[in-house]
Amino acid sequence: MTEQRDIVIAGGGMVGISLALELGRLLPATSRITLVEGFTLPPPASSAPDYHPSFDARSTALSYSSQLIYQAMGLWPALQRWLCPISTIHVSSRGHFGSTLLRAADYGWQALGHVVENPWLGQTLLHALRGQGRVELLNPAQVVAATAVSGGVDLALEGTTPARLHTALLVVADGADSGLRQGLGVSSSEKTYRQHALICNIATAQPHSGCAFERFTDEGPLALLPLLPAAGSSNRSALVWTLPPERAESLLGCTDDKFLAALQQRFGYRLGRLLQAGARQAYPLSLRHCEEQVRAGVVVMGNAAHALHPVAGQGFNLALRDIAALGRVLAPAVAAGASPGSLSVLQRYREHQREDQLRTIQFSDRLPALFMHSDPMLALARDLALSGLDWAAPLKRAFVEHAAGLEATRG
Ligand SMILES: Cc1cc2nc3c(=O)[nH]c(=O)nc-3n(C[C@H](O)[C@H](O)[C@H](O)COP(=O)(O)OP(=O)(O)OC[C@H]3O[C@@H](n4cnc5c(N)ncnc54)[C@H](O)[C@@H]3O)c2cc1C
Repeated sequence: MTEQRDIVIAGGGMVGISLALELGRLLPATSRITLVEGFTLPPPASSAPDYHPSFDARSTALSYSSQLIYQAMGLWPALQRWLCPISTIHVSSRGHFGSTLLRAADYGWQALGHVVENPWLGQTLLHALRGQGRVELLNPAQVVAATAVSGGVDLALEGTTPARLHTALLVVADGADSGLRQGLGVSSSEKTYRQHALICNIATAQPHSGCAFERFTDEGPLALLPLLPAAGSSNRSALVWTLPPERAESLLGCTDDKFLAALQQRFGYRLGRLLQAGARQAYPLSLRHCEEQVRAGVVVMGNAAHALHPVAGQGFNLALRDIAALGRVLAPAVAAGASPGSLSVLQRYREHQREDQLRTIQFSDRLPALFMHSDPMLALARDLALSGLDWAAPLKRAFVEHAAGLEATRG
């Protein structure tokens, strides 16, 4: 038997759960919303976060725009205990003279952003979703097929009953390798960077004092983001090190001592000696972008719609702005009696976010390319620009405001 829903979100990663919370908050109580997640989520009583593909050992730098969105959703107070504020960002280029310091205080802000470890973000969101009690959670369950039909989409599910759903709107949020996007024939473009992002947590001899380091090297950018102290280590930073795949492979497999020595050589001594490395993981990097993000009854969100280079920490922040925009468009339309899958309603969302998406994708794509280019004239211009950031206050402000997602918030 086929059951009816108004909205089904396929994929309960960082994006799917955040969207479920936002739609549960904004849409009329009569709207039937279901979230389907394939990976087994921790039970309600669990106090420690379990491993999950979206909420894994990575950390996420939340921009000011994300702070505003989570504040509006009422989630910021619960998140706060897991957030490490970024008070300064030190940007430098290895082997070149340019460097600059961006300070929150220069803009009258309390922080340039906040770093949260993904497992704690996941735990907070899941707890909030269960507490809100507005969205049906099917877990572990997978949406295995989606077929566009009159008035919405027919879905086949595995691992749960009902095994068949008809929904007015399907939100495709199943990640960068989205099987559902492909099954629906929604095309996406892909540009591989031929680089991997190696991540792990690092204990350092000196405290980070709220400083995030962004260091550009000829192999790729390297970021160390400040983390809150944890049991056994008070000075901790989260590493995102972009490397050629074969180098990432060898650094994944080597001993901790060799790994720390290689990192120290690349990063230098700004945090003193690097003392300890946590579990290492690597992610192949590519830019994926889906031009057709809406159809009657379908919207593609998160990594399924756009997966970016992590250098500027923009992927999830952009996805959260998409979520807020979709909520703002859907809520009044549904309250006025429109179907959530109405193409004209979904197109309004798409138009609203088109410019923000393009701007953010270009920023994330061009930044590493600019710093890795071997052209000596470009290198000189880049170094002048970096050192120039120290006197070119308007340029610096534009950079900081872009990274904070402020242009989009104003738009
Ligand atoms: C190294 C690294 C660092 C990053 N740092 C930052 C940062 O600092 N700031 C920032 O803004 N962004 C950052 N990002 C980007 C951010 O991680 C992504 O934007 C985010 O993970 C996208 O989440 P998602 O929910 O769209 O996809 P995913 O995390 O891939 O989640 C998809 C979910 O769908 C589920 N699923 C899949 N198929 C099905 C199905 N058929 N049925 C049901 N469920 C299904 C999966 O189990 C999974 O839980 C970083 C990315 C990387 C790789």
